Amino acid sequence: QEARMRQAQKMEAIGQLTGGIAHDFNNMLAVVMGGLELAKRQLGQDDELVEKHIDSATEGALRAAALTRRLLAFTREEALRTEPVDPGAVVAGMSDLLDRTLGDTIAVAVRDAGSGWQVRVDRLQLENVVLNLAVNARDAMDGRGTLTITTAGTTLSAGAVGDCPAGEYVSLSVTDTGAGMTPEVLERVFEPFFTTKPVGKGTGLGLSQVFAFTRQAEGEIALRSTPGEGTTVTLYLPRRDGKAAAPALQRPAPAVRQD
Ligand code: ADP
Repeated sequence: QEARMRQAQKMEAIGQLTGGIAHDFNNMLAVVMGGLELAKRQLGQDDELVEKHIDSATEGALRAAALTRRLLAFTREEALRTEPVDPGAVVAGMSDLLDRTLGDTIAVAVRDAGSGWQVRVDRLQLENVVLNLAVNARDAMDGRGTLTITTAGTTLSAGAVGDCPAGEYVSLSVTDTGAGMTPEVLERVFEPFFTTKPVGKGTGLGLSQVFAFTRQAEGEIALRSTPGEGTTVTLYLPRRDGKAAAPALQRPAPAVRQD
C-alpha cells in the first residue's frame, strides 16, 4: 500500500517535472550548439578561442548528461522482484481498493475463471497495472457504469495476439462501459505522456507503465474500444507454472490491435 502510494507520487512528480526538464535540457543544447558554431567560425584563425568555445560546448554536454543521469536515478524501478503469481488471486485481493477507487456509483465485478494459473511477475507491479487500468476505466465512465475484471487461462496460437508465440497464457481483461476511444486516441495511448485529460489530472504515463510491464513479462496487450460503448484492455501473460509455459523469446514490442 505504502509502496503503491510512493509509486503514484513518483509518477505524478515525473509528470510535473517533465516540462521543466525539457526546458533545461534545451538550454544546455543551446550552449553546446552555440559553442560549436563559434568554434567553427574561429577555425584556422584563433586556436585559443576555438579551444574556449569547444570547452564551453563540452561543459553544456556534461551538464545535460548529469541532468539525464539524475532523471534516470529518479525513475529507475527498484529491483524487480518477480515470483510466481496468480493474477486472479491478486485482483481478488484488491477488491476493497477497487471499490474505494471506483466510488459508489460504479459497479465492480471481479470474475475469476482461473484457479491457480500462475505467471511470473512482480506482484506489486501487477497491482499497479490493475489500478492504472481501473483508474482509466473510472475516468472514462463519468461516475456511472460497470467495471469488469476477468482472468482466465487461454491457449494462443502463434501470432494470435501481436507477435505472441504459441502457448498457454493467463488473460486479464479490464472492461468498462465508458466513453471509449477514437482510432486516433487508440493509436497513441502507449506513448509516454500522451493524455487527453486536463493538466494535473492525467500524466499520460499509466498505459506506458502497463506496456512496459507486459513487455517485461513477455506478454501481449490487446485493446478493443468503441466510442460511446466502452473499452476492454486485455493482457496476455505467459503461464509460468511449470506445466505449460510458453517459451521465453526476445520479441518486439506488444502490438496494438483494434477489432
Ligand atoms: P492518463 O490516464 O494519465 O491520461 P494513460 O497512459 O493511462 O494516461 O492513458 C492515456 C490516454 O488514453 C487517456 O488520457 C485516455 O484518453 C485514453 N484512455 C486510456 N484508458 C482509457 C479507457 N479505459 N477508456 C477511454 N479512454 C482511455
